[in-house]
Amino acid sequence: MPEDCLFCKIIKGEIPAQKLYEDDQLLAFWDIAPQAPKHFLVIPKKHVSGPGDLAPGDDSIIGALVRKGAQLGAEQGITDCRLVMNNGAEAGQTVFHLHMHVLGGRALAWPPG
Ligand code: C5P
Repeated sequence: MPEDCLFCKIIKGEIPAQKLYEDDQLLAFWDIAPQAPKHFLVIPKKHVSGPGDLAPGDDSIIGALVRKGAQLGAEQGITDCRLVMNNGAEAGQTVFHLHMHVLGGRALAWPPG
């Protein structure tokens, strides 16, 4: 767990976040700069820097992350939602701890910018 990882600090409670869900594997919290009326992040508690650094042993974490993200979205009234992972800086990744965005509450354009 890198000392300077922002999301590891949120997991440890060193930086505040508006939590939506937490279990032994995952944490979900509302994004501080929402890009849609409903926008939260789901992250694994295990530090992985991004999708490109996942190991075969992480498959169950990712399955849980996607399943829980969609379930939480439905609970928040966004059964229709976008689940997004930015993989690398050029793709828009700014925090290098794996996270999945869950966005909804408005019509979402495709393709993304
Ligand atoms: O995919 P990307 O790395 O750009 O997403 C990081 C997300 O983390 C951003 O949407 C940003 O608003 C969010 N964030 C947050 N709380 C922080 C720092 C960043 O919700 N303390």
